[in-house]
Amino acid sequence: MNTATSPTPTAVVFDLGKVLLEFDYGIVARRLAAHSGRDAEQIRGLLDQSPLLFRLESGQMTNEEFFAEVSSLTGYTGGFGEFANIFGDIFSAIHPMIDLHGQLRARGVPTFIFSNTNELAVRHIRANYAFFAHFTDYIYSHEAGAMKPDHRIYEVVERRSGRKGAELLYLDDRKENVDAGASRGWQVVHHQTPEQTIAAVRAAGLL
Ligand SMILES: [Mg+2]
Repeated sequence: MNTATSPTPTAVVFDLGKVLLEFDYGIVARRLAAHSGRDAEQIRGLLDQSPLLFRLESGQMTNEEFFAEVSSLTGYTGGFGEFANIFGDIFSAIHPMIDLHGQLRARGVPTFIFSNTNELAVRHIRANYAFFAHFTDYIYSHEAGAMKPDHRIYEVVERRSGRKGAELLYLDDRKENVDAGASRGWQVVHHQTPEQTIAAVRAAGLL
């Protein structure tokens, strides 16, 4: 959190999942289960925060390799295109946070997406959420080859934004991720509710 002695940050770094967009791998699991021999709960376990998803999101496997592995583990019988549509379609808007982003942009504040994610998810979000086009830049784990809270991906944010330390205000719902930002001197908000986060952004002097 910002304190009275912190300078006003000059850019805001947004986590994506559970900050700007809610997501639920249960939706994918149920839809894949309809085309496979496994039940939805087993499929969810293969995806949500799994070693397999980590490999995809840290850039260690291609979309096609991920698809082949999920198909073989679950007995999924659909094609890649159908799978890609199902896999990407797990999101719903968190409107107060999307509005917050719009207000920051209207004030000319540079904003960055900083996400552990994958190309299938990004493709789906780009196609379905207009707000997503309006960030200054996008730092994705699958492109950086490292996942939050690995320090290497925080270095990518600093390089791409041209900022470091207290110049950055970082919003993320995962404590280990905000802690890694705080350890670099970034101003951080451990996101829990839009109301608290918006108040913190205001307290930091950006609204
Ligand atoms: Mg998140």
